[in-house]
Amino acid sequence: MTPPAGSLLAAEDLRKAYGPTFALDGADFSIHPGEVVAVMGPSGSGKSTLLHCLAGIITPDSGTIRYDGRELSAMSDSQRSALRRTEFGFVFQFGQLVPELTCVENVALPLRLNGTPRKQAERTALGWMERLEVDGLAGKRPGEVSGGQGQRVAVARSLVTGPRLLFADEPTGALDSLNGERVMELLTEAARATNAAVVLVTHEARVAAYSDREVVVRDGKAQDMEPAV
Ligand code: ADP
Repeated sequence: MTPPAGSLLAAEDLRKAYGPTFALDGADFSIHPGEVVAVMGPSGSGKSTLLHCLAGIITPDSGTIRYDGRELSAMSDSQRSALRRTEFGFVFQFGQLVPELTCVENVALPLRLNGTPRKQAERTALGWMERLEVDGLAGKRPGEVSGGQGQRVAVARSLVTGPRLLFADEPTGALDSLNGERVMELLTEAARATNAAVVLVTHEARVAAYSDREVVVRDGKAQDMEPAV
């Protein structure tokens, strides 16, 4: 399948086997700049494998992935990790904050790793924390904040470098529905304000409702879900 013109990221015919199991079996996927795409599907269908391939974390056995016209497999490991540090952002279900650092130090961390001086990094981090309504928690450690607050800190961290593509793997999976909805509202608002595209893996319809388009993964293949009429 030819990817649509103007895609930010386009993957074609991805295959990945773990022994006899085909986690991906000819999956196509594409996303446009600023688009929010929900990736849905039952457990074990290949969603996480797809996300990890798209983000250049694991290499598929075959198939192509182009980010902004560049083929991921043609890059060196260090080029791929530079891409992840500068162009991509990541939010996971939980456990992603460094417990020894304060919340503002956690949010500033990606900037510090890219060489930004501490004061400047923390100033930018605080701006993102305000946007995610957690600036009041700047001096607290992750162990001292609630699950929903921690996820908002994690979202602030994922956006602090101004990524063009955010990968969110079940970002509300460990939250109750009220906190989950608030995280999704703030995440999608912030992504839209900065024109960041979002690949959002979820198995919950109410989380997928925040997306522009839904893709269903089944048996290692990805298909656009027909819009409801
Ligand atoms: P999902 O995210 O939809 O739950 P996954 O991508 O995690 O699905 O898994 C797809 C299939 O690949 C499953 O059958 C899973 O057991 C298998 N799988 C995924 N990762 C590994 C791995 N590292 N080693 C062996 N099997 C794996």
